[in-house]
Amino acid sequence: MNSNRGIEVYKSYCNGCNKPFYELMDYELEECPRCGSKDIIDESILTKQIEVSFDTGEIIVKD
Ligand SMILES: [Zn+2]
Repeated sequence: MNSNRGIEVYKSYCNGCNKPFYELMDYELEECPRCGSKDIIDESILTKQIEVSFDTGEIIVKD
């Protein structure tokens, strides 16, 4: 058994470079980290599971 916790990740889409990027709650970006465009669309909220393996101590990120 491992310990795990779900965290919410915002997925946004940049109209400047036409690529998605991700943001953590309370740390939203004002502009695209790739091209600096402020033409950003909020797309969806995903929940990622952060898991710590009790066998190896490694962090695993799951969809
Ligand atoms: Zn961009």
